Amino acid sequence: MHEMSIAQSLLEIVEDTLKENPHSKLKKVVVKVGELVAVVPDSLQFCYQALTADTPLEGSELVIELIPVAASCQDCRKEFKVDSFFFICPHCESTNVKILSGQELRVSELEVE
Ligand SMILES: [Zn+2]
Repeated sequence: MHEMSIAQSLLEIVEDTLKENPHSKLKKVVVKVGELVAVVPDSLQFCYQALTADTPLEGSELVIELIPVAASCQDCRKEFKVDSFFFICPHCESTNVKILSGQELRVSELEVE
């Protein structure tokens, strides 16, 4: 399952970061996920809760922020938002486009107490 492996890699990042503060308890983790990663937020939420159950991270809150897909046209140099995975420039209909955002997957914030 796609979301399970994503939740696992997120947890690795979280655990690495918490190693630097061994006595802190995780309250909240904010992740930024690009729409191209095609994550189902409910499903990722479920996997996160399942993986943290009975661990020191149990009870922490996962906040998922979706990042829209943006691209820039290499022909007319305009930037645009990509809808429905159509990688075509809406200004000149070129398919010579470069993805600017929407592929990221990172932990943006950890709240500990
Ligand atoms: Zn264009």
